[in-house]
Amino acid sequence: MEPGNEVTIQFVADQGLCNGCGTCTAVCPAGSITVNESHNGLLVASVDTGTCTRCRLCVDVCSAIRVDPSVASATEDHFHGNVLQAVCGFATDERLRSNAKSGGVATAIVQYMIETGRADRALMAGIDNNPLRPGPVIIESVSDLTAAQSSWYCPVALNSVLDSIDNFDRLIFTGLSCHIRCL
Ligand SMILES: Cc1cc2nc3c(=O)[nH]c(=O)nc-3n(C[C@H](O)[C@H](O)[C@H](O)COP(=O)(O)OP(=O)(O)OC[C@H]3O[C@@H](n4cnc5c(N)ncnc54)[C@H](O)[C@@H]3O)c2cc1C
Repeated sequence: MEPGNEVTIQFVADQGLCNGCGTCTAVCPAGSITVNESHNGLLVASVDTGTCTRCRLCVDVCSAIRVDPSVASATEDHFHGNVLQAVCGFATDERLRSNAKSGGVATAIVQYMIETGRADRALMAGIDNNPLRPGPVIIESVSDLTAAQSSWYCPVALNSVLDSIDNFDRLIFTGLSCHIRCL
């Protein structure tokens, strides 16, 4: 789908295309967008048309609204897009590896970056207050990493807190492709 004359991402939600990444809520200057849990546990953006200024920023950042040109032009595999490289590995730390879903590589890299001073903090999906609904968590020390390890097979509005981050230098971001494309 290509954006046409739509002025808000409400039509993405109405067509069942919203993946609940939360980017639109973070960029909306009027604070008119919320991400709400649907009756079947999905996260769906909703626009308050009363306060929305029709600035279209939410449309600009939405990854569900347009086809990634690199995928559209993929000559070999339209499902995966152009794969630059595939690697395989696992964390050598047994505790990290056994707590993870697929070997703990993501957490091991974050741990390494923080421990060696290459990064100060990480924005990850994790368990904060509600164990049944993971959300965005900012990890500032390696001891906090257990809250953000493993995989939750449900939407997380990870990008909804991007507007609260004042400095992106030395920040690690882990997320799914929908989060990263919008970022
Ligand atoms: C919803 C979902 C669908 C997936 N689908 C596939 C698939 O089809 N094929 C495939 O090969 N792999 C898929 N994965 C990835 C796979 O399950 C592992 O998450 C991935 O390989 C990382 O493994 P790890 O052991 O290195 O992770 P870990 O070291 O345990 O770290 C996992 C990282 O993922 C983050 N995370 C966990 N849940 C979420 C979430 N819901 N949204 C955003 N970030 C999250 C955590 O914050 C952490 O940084 C999916 C993951 C998720 C969350």
